[in-house]
Amino acid sequence: MPKPVVALVGRPNVGKSTLFNRLAGERLAVVHERPGTTRDRTVAEAEWNGVAFDLIDTGGFDPTVDWIDERYLPQIRAQAEQALLAADAIVFLVDGASGVSPLDHVIADILRREQVPILLVVNKIDSAARGNRSSEFYELGLDDPIPISALHGRGTGDMLDRLTEVLDPAPQIAADDDEVKIAIVGRPNVGKSSLLNLLLGEERAIVSPLPGTTRDAIDTQLEFEGVPLTLIDTAGIRRRGRIKPGVEKYSSMRALKAIQRADVALLLIDGTEGVTAQDAHIAVMLLDKLKSVLLLVNKWDMVPEEIRDIQAYAEHVKSALKFLDFVPVLFISALVGTNVHKVLPAALQIQKERLQRIPTSRLNELLLEAQAAHAPPSKAGKRLRIYFASQVRIDPPTFLFHVNDPKLMHFSYARFLENRIREEHSYVGTPIRLSFRSRS
Ligand code: GDP
Ligand code: GDP
Repeated sequence: MPKPVVALVGRPNVGKSTLFNRLAGERLAVVHERPGTTRDRTVAEAEWNGVAFDLIDTGGFDPTVDWIDERYLPQIRAQAEQALLAADAIVFLVDGASGVSPLDHVIADILRREQVPILLVVNKIDSAARGNRSSEFYELGLDDPIPISALHGRGTGDMLDRLTEVLDPAPQIAADDDEVKIAIVGRPNVGKSSLLNLLLGEERAIVSPLPGTTRDAIDTQLEFEGVPLTLIDTAGIRRRGRIKPGVEKYSSMRALKAIQRADVALLLIDGTEGVTAQDAHIAVMLLDKLKSVLLLVNKWDMVPEEIRDIQAYAEHVKSALKFLDFVPVLFISALVGTNVHKVLPAALQIQKERLQRIPTSRLNELLLEAQAAHAPPSKAGKRLRIYFASQVRIDPPTFLFHVNDPKLMHFSYARFLENRIREEHSYVGTPIRLSFRSRS
């Protein structure tokens, strides 16, 4: 995947060079600097929060020239446009000491036309007392202004945090937390402990035919094909409303907590019983928490011959759990071991899918294609307009759409967009989140 490019854009004298030098000089790990194609473009390889990107300074305007002069507008435009072509994100710098200038509007208008996320950064906010000045830049019609002082290094860390959020790669996947957490969930007696034992190859958990014998979530760390894993064994989760006080409530809370920590959940159902309401309830909970899911139909060895048809059974599962149609299903037996060797590879594959990122440029291409194929909905004569989209987070995959009015978004159109995204990256087993924000 190519490194994202961040362009520093702004009218002359707002402090672009100062900011660039500060970022390149101290705050970022600059691997090396290389001269740009022209003298007035500098590129630095940068990294922040573990996210690597190329920073381009588009500065280099002659300070002796009066840039407000109409004659120079084409040049300013060309520069902003050139930056847009190359960039995955824009840092649009304005001057908080002198306030909004007509040139800021010119540049904002150009930037807004394009489908690239923009950080509106207000420079020269040297003290907290000047903080309020940044709010006047709301009139540019961009997102919340971020106040900084390039000269004193004030606020630049927060700005970089915001930048890396926009660029994406889940900062929560820190180096010390790269193990994959897999929770084994399901109602009591579906075979969770049996499966865990098989996966571990030893009698770690106590298997019992009595429901609810395993009460607490138990973590087991192991390495599978070089990948560090934590298996989280949960107690059976009881349906809400039927939780009795005491032990069961406690164990159910533990189960919820265990799910919270997981990346991927192995959701077991009892194949001899089919999908029950309680299974569906757990599935909804997993989706609410945006967990990836691998559905395991267990006790396949005991399923009566006449309904032991994988195709038909899979259809039964999909129709009982319609909202889980992106979740793969495996048919296993934790008693005799059928297909158990496929469980961890499938879970790891799901985790890999979960961490896919769609580059902003590709996402917006896809968005254009989608809109051409199927026009956005309208309500009371007003049509939904989608200006641009970006993947603001990878874990869970989260896509932010800038639209004219989120209320015009219809469920079916959101679903359509989700399907188009899944054609690009299937994100198999993983819920994805689409969020719609008003541009005004
Ligand atoms: P550029 O033309 O956009 O690259 O702007 P420069 O980086 O050359 O800065 C223009 C002027 O603004 C210089 O005199 C800087 O010292 C000054 N400047 C830059 N950042 C700040 C800041 O955070 N606070 C103050 N007070 N002055 C700044
Ligand atoms: P848990 O409550 O979900 O942890 O379920 P257990 O692992 O304790 O299993 C409950 C019962 O189902 C035990 O008697 C297991 O031997 C049995 N069991 C688990 N998996 C299978 C399976 O694949 N096939 C059959 N026939 N029985 C199973």
